Amino acid sequence: MSIEEMAAEPGMLVLARESRGWTQADVAEAMSQLETGTRISQGYVSRAEAGRLTVTGDRLLLFAAALRYSPEVLCSTADVHGVGIGLVHHRKRASMGATGLRRIHAILALSRMQTKALTRAAGLTGEHRFHHIPVDELDTPPDAADRLREEWNLPPGPISDLVAVVEQAGALVVVRDLGTSELDAVSQWSQGEPPLFLLNSAAPPDRFRFSLAHELGHVIMHTEPGTGREQEEQADRFAAEFLMPHEDIAADLKEGVDLARLLELKGRWGVSMAALARRALTLNVISDWQYRNIMVEMSALGYRTTEPEAVPRETPRGMARVVNQLQQHDGLSSAQAARVAGLTPDEFDEIYRCASSLSESPALGTSLR
Ligand SMILES: [Zn+2]
Repeated sequence: MSIEEMAAEPGMLVLARESRGWTQADVAEAMSQLETGTRISQGYVSRAEAGRLTVTGDRLLLFAAALRYSPEVLCSTADVHGVGIGLVHHRKRASMGATGLRRIHAILALSRMQTKALTRAAGLTGEHRFHHIPVDELDTPPDAADRLREEWNLPPGPISDLVAVVEQAGALVVVRDLGTSELDAVSQWSQGEPPLFLLNSAAPPDRFRFSLAHELGHVIMHTEPGTGREQEEQADRFAAEFLMPHEDIAADLKEGVDLARLLELKGRWGVSMAALARRALTLNVISDWQYRNIMVEMSALGYRTTEPEAVPRETPRGMARVVNQLQQHDGLSSAQAARVAGLTPDEFDEIYRCASSLSESPALGTSLR
């Protein structure tokens, strides 16, 4: 279908706007600024989003330019919230409001469309090694974590590149600045597709890894919405065991845990000092009293808000490889590849190509200790 025959999908106009964190008035303002001499009203945007008027032709192009998505994206009939669309899990702070969360969910839905379009264009089938592992009182979240490590053939000890592990299992990982410090990660696993993890590049590297492990726990264990607190605890327990298997880390913790030792272990295990201290408490290596003392010391040094850096930042490579293939193998230009994803070239580069130079270096993804 040519652009002239296309009309915007009302639901996509809403989704695109929400992904920008904009109000209808913001969209109207952005459109008015692009089209000199025309005043677009909030009421117009509202009617377009409600489907009470049809958006085609120049108006469609104006919407697309203002929202910075391709007209095709705005006309897409992809069912982004319907049947078969997996549960969304997110690791956020309680302070995050509904508007902010809607924005993240919109970014997630659009990321799904983008990654799907790109992998499909590259002819990839989306094979993966994920399956659900149910948990109860007998088969606990740590059991699920141990089982998954075994199924994925991970050697004992620290996981040096968790993103690579998740990508090698076939998941799609998108890392971008989510514009908030209140949410680290979201995940979704929809029928017939590989799981998708959307991660906040603004999170500190240690928290980034724990959040990814936490989301991995949700994706593996939770198929239905549960009582929030219980699932969150299960995901945390899964993450702690997946990143710090009790059999492997016990010896490291038993040598005593003061702040210097915690910092050393942070570098080795790639988790925060706070997570290590909590692990030591959970595994009964230290007492409640010792744990509290460590927390007090960490507080005094400001470590409860900002810990010393000791963990390298992880970068996904899977999507960058897909983009490389489209460009080098299939001969697409940068602009064409961006068009496949429905993004402007600038934003496309920022999200999907930032790691492409890295992905050319050999076998980085397999560096497991
Ligand atoms: Zn969670």
